[in-house]
Amino acid sequence: MGSLTSDLELEYNSNSSINLLDSEEFRRQGHMFVDFMAEYYKNIDKYPVRSQVEPGYLKKRLPESAPYSPESVETILQDVREHIVPGITHWQSPNYFAYFPATSSVAGIIGEMLSSGFNVVGLDWISSPAAVELENIVMDWLGQMLDLPKSFLFSGNGGGVIQGTTCEALLCTLTAARDRVLKKIGRENISKLVVYSSDQTHCAFQKAAQIVGIDRKNIRAIKTTKSSSYGLSAESVLSQINLDVEAELIPLFLCATVGTTAITAVDPLKPLCDVAKQFGIWVHVDAAYAGSACICPEFRHFIDGVECVDSFSFNPHKWLFTTLDCCCLWVKDPGCLLSTLSTNPQYLKNEATDQEPKEQEVRYQDWQITLCRRFRSLKLWVVIRNFGVANLRNFIRSHVGMAKLFERLVTSDKRFEVAFPRKFSLVCFRVTPSAVMDKLRTKYKNGTYDQYRQFSEEERTNEFNRELLESINVSGKVFMTHAIVGGIYVLRFAAGNSMTMESHVRAAWTVVQEHLEAF
Ligand SMILES: *Cc1c(COP(=O)(O)O)cnc(C)c1O
Repeated sequence: MGSLTSDLELEYNSNSSINLLDSEEFRRQGHMFVDFMAEYYKNIDKYPVRSQVEPGYLKKRLPESAPYSPESVETILQDVREHIVPGITHWQSPNYFAYFPATSSVAGIIGEMLSSGFNVVGLDWISSPAAVELENIVMDWLGQMLDLPKSFLFSGNGGGVIQGTTCEALLCTLTAARDRVLKKIGRENISKLVVYSSDQTHCAFQKAAQIVGIDRKNIRAIKTTKSSSYGLSAESVLSQINLDVEAELIPLFLCATVGTTAITAVDPLKPLCDVAKQFGIWVHVDAAYAGSACICPEFRHFIDGVECVDSFSFNPHKWLFTTLDCCCLWVKDPGCLLSTLSTNPQYLKNEATDQEPKEQEVRYQDWQITLCRRFRSLKLWVVIRNFGVANLRNFIRSHVGMAKLFERLVTSDKRFEVAFPRKFSLVCFRVTPSAVMDKLRTKYKNGTYDQYRQFSEEERTNEFNRELLESINVSGKVFMTHAIVGGIYVLRFAAGNSMTMESHVRAAWTVVQEHLEAF
């Protein structure tokens, strides 16, 4: 007993003399880390873009329990190199064209380092005045860059908040809309609430709707068609609303998308708002990816009508060179968020909270799900200043230019076609049905292309393109993903990664052609 106590005391005493944020250690390890990442970026195109490990690979390589004794950062970094890097899909690779890019930049990472360096918990003004005030300022800057109406800015009567992801932004706005209506009709009527989106809307919306308690059978994913370029038509929304109203349900919320995830379709905001407003529906715009492009005057028209909506969000962590996570949400009526998300516990009371909040004393804890929040505005501020609006626009334009180049390469090869019109930096393409047939005839000369036999022409084309994409991705040379819209399977080429140059785009196209030839 006696010896145990003295052991503990010994450890306590020795640990108490170690500064966990020793400035010289920070400098030494920080430099080591920066060197490590710099090497990684230098060599990033040497790795297979899509990780090639098997499921469960890491369990085989790491010990079963945590180390009892401390290990040096050198050892840990060595293990990152050996065991973690192989299991990484390299989103920052110049040959990464999958999903949408998660664009990073030196400025974005530096901002992130500052943010975790300070590691403040910006609950409210007094917990870090700069965290709150900078977020106000940056959100107004960004709102101006998007030419949002003043009613969304703090300098109007609205305001913006940086959330982690679109799903959180949707969750907060849905909750606000829900409570605004339930206050009038009584909470017992929650099962009557209906929310609207299209069959192209991101599943984040469905998830948020489920969480806020919308009955699953009242989550409408309205069918889109080729004739409206897979945008949500106001007429089909109106007829669905009419059916719901007839059934004594209550229309609550419409999520419109500018730049859908599959093929970057755009829902027409103005006509949709004209319909929604007749029924008092809250309209949110999800521009997660394409919102960034709207800082360029030539793309701004895609959000025309935004002056009529209630809330708008987009992700700078997708296409505005800011590291994960960073989703910017603006609302016209912050009071709606506050009345549903506010709490006012004693331990967070202070002089500032006792008064009506002033503009610069925004209690951001009441604008989001969580109480604690990271100093995210810092990285956005560093990015915007370090690029300048001019270069933010230039880089977006150069990414669109690369997509246009890829589009030209696709259309100049008769075996391929662009399957859906390109709007931003995403090209959706495929091998044409007739080229697929030609290929199968040559490959199976005796006519026994059995595995394709049972398929219709469309299914055969889809299956062929699916196999082609998989063979491309297995090569590790580039990474692309797919979408199926209107029954058509397409390969998605999402240009716009931070390290991608025109030469990578041309090389990617060569990879596609080579894989078709080798099929
Ligand atoms: C990527 C994407 C999302 C999801 O964004 P998170 O921030 O990851 O929740 C939502 N909507 C659209 C249109 C997207 O492209």
